[in-house]
Amino acid sequence: MPPTHEVLNQPPPLAGYDLYAADPVLAEALHREGAGWAEERVRALGVLAGDPEAIAWGEAADANPPVLRTHDRYGRRVDEVEFHPAWHRLLGTAVEHGLHAAPWRDPRPGAQVARAAGFYLWTQVEAGHGCPVSMTFAAVPALRAAAPGLAEVWEPKLTALAYQPALAPLAAKAGALCGMAMTEKQGGSDVRANTTTAAPAGPDEPWLLTGHKWFCSAPMSDAFLVLAQAPAGLSCFLVPRVLPDGARNRFHLQRLKDKLGNRANASAEVELDRAAGWPVGEPGRGLAAILEMVNHTRLDCVVGSAALMRQAVAQATHHAAHRSAFGRRLADQPLMENVLADLAVESEAATVLAMRVAGAFDRAPDDPAEAAVRRLATAVAKYWVCKRAPAVAAEALECLGGNGYVEESGMPRLYREAPLNSLWEGAGNINSLDVLRVLARRPETVAALLDEVAPARAAEPRLDRAAAAAERELAAADLAGLQGGARRLVERLAVLLQGALLVRHGHPAVADAFCASRVAGDHGAAFGTLPPGPDLPTIVERATPKVG
Ligand SMILES: Cc1cc2nc3c(=O)[nH]c(=O)nc-3n(C[C@H](O)[C@H](O)[C@H](O)COP(=O)(O)OP(=O)(O)OC[C@H]3O[C@@H](n4cnc5c(N)ncnc54)[C@H](O)[C@@H]3O)c2cc1C
Repeated sequence: MPPTHEVLNQPPPLAGYDLYAADPVLAEALHREGAGWAEERVRALGVLAGDPEAIAWGEAADANPPVLRTHDRYGRRVDEVEFHPAWHRLLGTAVEHGLHAAPWRDPRPGAQVARAAGFYLWTQVEAGHGCPVSMTFAAVPALRAAAPGLAEVWEPKLTALAYQPALAPLAAKAGALCGMAMTEKQGGSDVRANTTTAAPAGPDEPWLLTGHKWFCSAPMSDAFLVLAQAPAGLSCFLVPRVLPDGARNRFHLQRLKDKLGNRANASAEVELDRAAGWPVGEPGRGLAAILEMVNHTRLDCVVGSAALMRQAVAQATHHAAHRSAFGRRLADQPLMENVLADLAVESEAATVLAMRVAGAFDRAPDDPAEAAVRRLATAVAKYWVCKRAPAVAAEALECLGGNGYVEESGMPRLYREAPLNSLWEGAGNINSLDVLRVLARRPETVAALLDEVAPARAAEPRLDRAAAAAERELAAADLAGLQGGARRLVERLAVLLQGALLVRHGHPAVADAFCASRVAGDHGAAFGTLPPGPDLPTIVERATPKVG
């Protein structure tokens, strides 16, 4: 090999390490939010997620997107999607570790937090397979609440730790997955505009659904919760891919979307041609039934975006710790240190908020104040944490220089994935408007928010001033009429919540930097604009994974 090909000044691959051990923010949150008992099982996923073989599954699943097979060689419809084996390894691992079901199997205190922490670690390998995992997780409470009879039949399969991808009647399957189909061509946010119809077929017969769905992800799932117009209004139905007698339901896959990111996952256009469906809840109450599912998938959007940010920051800090320019490590260059610290602060704020929301999911059933936190903070965090992910991914990519723009680095995959969580399960505007609606209609959520912030106010004057301003704004505003200002208000509430969590529980250097920049407003529009004062080396060191 000629000496000019000697490789110098390149970092070692970020592989063969324990993502849990490398992430003190997550470990602290796991214990604080009541899931310390799950540490070893969460750590197991952290070790797996750092394993070079698992990292290679993520790369292979993304590089080999699913392929639609509408018909067999004889011309019969099959409506199947073929995935790369790596997809099955990823999804199988998630299911075997209960990321789709653990809190429903064993609802002990902290179960939601433990599951969220596992989801956060494992989806750092590849985010696309998190979609069916999350939808299956979210379908169970929706079925329990609205259709106990269906839950009795489906829940044992939806919560089994068995991944069995082939389509078959439910009775023949060890485990099953569930998706959702709401969005149609003419409307996704405004689902009341759905035109798919549902007609009763007779006593003890399933209803027959006819229409199209424009986005239906994970189409090889065993069943879907589907919205359709029944005579009583918009209603929710459980539509299986295979009927109890073994026949395929008339659920036809028209096309797969050619997506910006999330490429390992399939998202289909579906034609329902008198497909059999069983009602989930009262006819005409479909939105209420499916919103229980959406509340849970929104939690995963928050956790998933926090995970993506963490992975981006881990890659950036790792690179800067091992790469030198102009005579010293990038991480020691004062301006790069500011960029990395600013990114780390954003990531830490996202993680503490995500885990706080997961904790509220645990405690809400027995605690009205936590139920109020859950209702409001899920929507606030869904807006803000998901909104921050693309900016973090772009800046973290730049920290790797040209290598960050190259597929092999993994950064382009994070960058392409980053906008998605803000888009689905209620795009940014829809989530912000949801926050306004909740604040206006449920005053107990305002009280819960202020109570959440109160304990941190005495310790941090910058937070105290911001909380007082928010209090005045909430008291004065005609919340329902504030539509045009919704994002501005929601962003301020999110920052306040994150600031309070960091002041009470975060590393003091991170809390200081967050309050100086985000809470007090001494911050630029790009990352790397933290004001002088905070202890940046400590923040960067805390975020840098230790490999080997
Ligand atoms: C990869 C991918 C997978 C998906 N998978 C699924 C799935 O499995 N099942 C499913 O049902 N759907 C799925 N979706 C659809 C997704 O949920 C919708 O795209 C989303 O809800 C937005 O709906 P829309 O595309 O019809 O946009 P629109 O509803 O037309 O919205 C367009 C824009 O207008 C904004 N907007 C809408 N109303 C208002 C308002 N009143 N005030 C201010 N702004 C407003 C929205 O925030 C958005 O920015 C998927 C989408 C993607 C990209």
